[in-house]
Amino acid sequence: MELVTGGAGFIGSHLVDSLVDKGKKVRVIDNFSSGKMEFLSHHKSNIEIIRCDLLDFENVNKAMSGIETVHHMAANPDIRLGTEVTDTDLKQGTMATYNILEAMRVNGVKNISFASSSAIYGEAKEMPTSENYGPLLPISLYGASKIASETLITAWIGTFGGKAWIHRFANIVGPRGTHGVIFDFIHKLKKTPDRLEVLGDGFQEKSYMSVHDCVNSMLHLIEKTDNDVNLFNLGTGDTCSVRRIAEIVVEESKIENVKIEYTGGKRGWAGDVPKTFLNVDKLLRTGFEPTRMSEETIRDCAINLIDEIGLK
Ligand code: NAD
Repeated sequence: MELVTGGAGFIGSHLVDSLVDKGKKVRVIDNFSSGKMEFLSHHKSNIEIIRCDLLDFENVNKAMSGIETVHHMAANPDIRLGTEVTDTDLKQGTMATYNILEAMRVNGVKNISFASSSAIYGEAKEMPTSENYGPLLPISLYGASKIASETLITAWIGTFGGKAWIHRFANIVGPRGTHGVIFDFIHKLKKTPDRLEVLGDGFQEKSYMSVHDCVNSMLHLIEKTDNDVNLFNLGTGDTCSVRRIAEIVVEESKIENVKIEYTGGKRGWAGDVPKTFLNVDKLLRTGFEPTRMSEETIRDCAINLIDEIGLK
């Protein structure tokens, strides 16, 4: 049995789909803060769903019984929230990871696959940024909680044994997305179809990986690598600017004469890293190839979300 924390979320629910497709039995823990039951409602007998907060150790401990691998996807995914409620990432990131690791130790569960982020690199001086880059100096509270979780994981493996896969994601986009720049732009256009406000100067540049490539690469790495700690950047090896994303979303919305307005400044919000570009050579060397690069991923995602959100 596999455990997916945050299994009702965007990435988690796609991961559940893939695990079930591979014939695995899956247990999901989710508090449904941003996850949705409808993302899992197509599954019948192969999954168990436990509505529980990861901060509730007793129930997490019970849910760990009989688990082979924990896929730890749950976290507050919204970097901006960390600036308003400053203990969000400490609790939903660092403490939640501690509870997972401790419940694993108590139950003798040996394998963990963890959703980390490019946010741990902060404003890296090396582009594209490889896994060996350091020192790691995140500039968001979210990034701090991800690097804290990574270090707790390696400490647990070093002390109690087991195996870890740490995946440092680029921006992941696709169907069922519930946050992020493309999602925000579509919602803004729905509200004010004549104008689109872009936070920052629009020159922010990031890599965008499709959620299907993200899930497939995680499962590929679990299958193909077996060091005690397996650390990989997951991304596409190219970038796309926020300006280009705004243009693509407007094009796909088919709304005419939209005025794109920039709020200015190099960051979208405090803690936003203007440019992230992950070096994914290590991932490619394992034989995994993303099916889509950033722009194509963004366009596909915009088409899907416009349909899901009902812009047309
Ligand atoms: P998401 O919000 O859709 O998924 C997170 C899920 O975790 C949700 O279902 C939510 O209800 C659940 N959850 C949150 N806190 C919980 C708690 N305390 N107890 C139980 N359940 C809880 O976000 P996502 O984009 O699917 O992100 C999945 C993981 O990937 C997160 O760890 C996120 O930090 C990481 N990540 C995502 C991206 C991206 O671009 N989407 C990039 C880098 C890293």
